[in-house]
Amino acid sequence: MKSNFAHGYKLGLGIRPAYLEAVNPPVSQTPKSAYRLTKIIFTLGPASSDEGMLEKLITAGVDVCRLNMAHADEKWTRTMIRRVRDVCKRTQRHIALMMDVKGPEIRTGDLPAPVNLAEGQLIDLLPESGIAEHGVLAVTVNYPKMGGDVSAGTVVLVDSGLIRLVVLETSAARVRCKVVVAGMLTSRRHINLPGVQVRLPALTAKDRADIAVGVEEQVDFFALSFVREADDIDILRRLLSDLKSTARIIAKIEDQSGIDNLDEIIIASDAVMVARGDLGIEVPMEDLPLIQKRIVEGCIRHRKPVIVATHLLESMILSPVPTRAEVSDIATAVWSAADAIMLSGETTTGKYPLECVQFMKRVAGRVETNATKGYNAALPLKTHKDRLLRSAVTLAQELGDSGLIVFTRSGLLPQTLSALRAWRCPIYAFTDDAQVFRHMLLLWGVEPFLMEIKEDKPEETISDAFAYLVRREWVKRGDWMVVVTNVLAGKTTLDSIQMRPVE
Ligand code: PEP
Repeated sequence: MKSNFAHGYKLGLGIRPAYLEAVNPPVSQTPKSAYRLTKIIFTLGPASSDEGMLEKLITAGVDVCRLNMAHADEKWTRTMIRRVRDVCKRTQRHIALMMDVKGPEIRTGDLPAPVNLAEGQLIDLLPESGIAEHGVLAVTVNYPKMGGDVSAGTVVLVDSGLIRLVVLETSAARVRCKVVVAGMLTSRRHINLPGVQVRLPALTAKDRADIAVGVEEQVDFFALSFVREADDIDILRRLLSDLKSTARIIAKIEDQSGIDNLDEIIIASDAVMVARGDLGIEVPMEDLPLIQKRIVEGCIRHRKPVIVATHLLESMILSPVPTRAEVSDIATAVWSAADAIMLSGETTTGKYPLECVQFMKRVAGRVETNATKGYNAALPLKTHKDRLLRSAVTLAQELGDSGLIVFTRSGLLPQTLSALRAWRCPIYAFTDDAQVFRHMLLLWGVEPFLMEIKEDKPEETISDAFAYLVRREWVKRGDWMVVVTNVLAGKTTLDSIQMRPVE
């Protein structure tokens, strides 16, 4: 069938969103000089939550702000979300919001005072209603079924693995352990049971209450902790659907069950986080690099964004400069083409939140600008549309460094273009849906713009996009770019790619 440019073409984007933010010029992101393929996520905390620091971080180039609900109540959450949005409006740089839901977590109970646990000492872990035995130290845990999940020899790690216990015997009334690695036990410490399949619900009552707040405040992503199987994602998906939310779901892989069920979890979720903090406790530390590689590669294969999280710049919590090993760690994540790298403690309680973001940018930028042109030829292509998109990125790479333009209302085309991991080929994704714009902030290599799309005036829309890119010095007049659009061929709409000089 012959395509019929004489009869025009249209930008067939599906249903127009009810909500279209009036924007002229389009909502901008980063200036070209700060363009990065790898996105940066920071976690909000006392070190980063005042308006001044938020402004610095946002203008420095963070893409997503994470709220860690393990340490948040409703008032703080609502205040912070509104504050971040206010700063975005003021700075004209818009970032996405991620609510990281605490998920099922085993914790020790309250202690009247810290207890120094000595090597060899006995300690009983009791249900909250449990009764202590005379002469043996007893600590409550918030998981009454624990006695049924562990057995003699199970390792119990307390407080991020700082204290190590081994189970001696279990009964319905208590789990008796011996201290193997001593340490100071304080109230409400996190417990990890490496390799044990715990029977905790995917979402706790607090999680559900937090999610309702996040939906009301229209956060863009919900990250779910300790995802063990695809069902956990489905439970959250149903809840979000009941609450009429279109937020995306990020599965945090933090333990062996998550690794065992990786493929089904990637398929069920919208994005995945390699949560190295807990993973490093739950699995042997030397397995972490291989697990990270497997998760990143699996996500790219399934076209799902992937985040490498935690300890990327841990030493910068206290020090103004990173270690050499941390610089290499960031470079490894960038080389592997992870979509995003994430700061946790560095920006919640660290002394140098801004410097951390600047270091990440410098290291990522150095690696990215030294990459040679190439793309992910191993991506399984399922349809002719996929093949067309593959041609679009390779053509854009041949034409120079100017990249390609795509118009989208769902974010799906940019997601596939991103999965093709075409180095040195910026993907400028224009949408008229504010939330899709923010979802695309997580995609590798994609620079999203929120702009009115005139579906019946495709030439005008393309000119608007060119004009915007020229005005912000992303491209110059005369540069050749690839434009991905639909074309009307008689009565049929065809996908097409156009090779055009910027006018
Ligand atoms: C992690 O464990 O790496 C992580 C990001 O999760 P959290 O900070 O919620 O423990």
